[in-house]
Amino acid sequence: MTDPNQSLKAKAQAVHQRLLEVYGQPEWRPHLDPISEVVSTILSQNTTDVNRDRAFERLRARFATWEKVRDGPVEAIEDAVRPAGLAQQKAPRIKGALQFITQERGELSLDFLKGMPVDEAKAWLTQIKGIGPKTAAIILLFSLGMPAFPVDTHVHRVTVRLGLIGPKVSAEKAHDLLEDLLPPDWYYPFHLNVIRHGREICHARNPKCEICPLQDLCDYYREAAS
Ligand code: SF4
Repeated sequence: MTDPNQSLKAKAQAVHQRLLEVYGQPEWRPHLDPISEVVSTILSQNTTDVNRDRAFERLRARFATWEKVRDGPVEAIEDAVRPAGLAQQKAPRIKGALQFITQERGELSLDFLKGMPVDEAKAWLTQIKGIGPKTAAIILLFSLGMPAFPVDTHVHRVTVRLGLIGPKVSAEKAHDLLEDLLPPDWYYPFHLNVIRHGREICHARNPKCEICPLQDLCDYYREAAS
């Protein structure tokens, strides 16, 4: 039987190859351990990477372990994470997430997820308040080396414009659709190269289509030119 997604898969492959030619193969860098990634992601909501990192470092400096954060006074967590903003909301959320993992697993570790099918691991993680599909995929891909594809705002915008996903598909839904279009080995390089493309060329406002190496593969460009 013919795969209904065959032409989209071919297009995804062409985009992937073109991005590799332009930006190269992104190097695998060590990422945070899964628990640190949970904390960092909660801190990252509605703030810049710089402020997220400042808050994260302050938290690490004030508490020797994540267990101490879990068991510590919420006011002290709130004070430590203030640089990330929304500290009153983020502090209880971090403590709650660490408590939830411990209650469910008997220890503060997410390594058990490695033994699960990806869909089950995603479902487990998204039970935690503050963890949505994007964060779950980030934890699985970057911290645990599992085949999940995270869709952030850049990936969502660029893949919609290219026509790899429909214009009305939400970022949440895009996770499953893009995972189906790409072989798991590509998730890491495709994710990073598309983000880079979104930051450098395919901006939210005024994309630099005139210098874009993906013009011939892009629905948005074709429609704008017609
Ligand atoms: S042609 Fe324009 S809209 Fe399409 S991917 Fe390139 S910059 Fe984005």
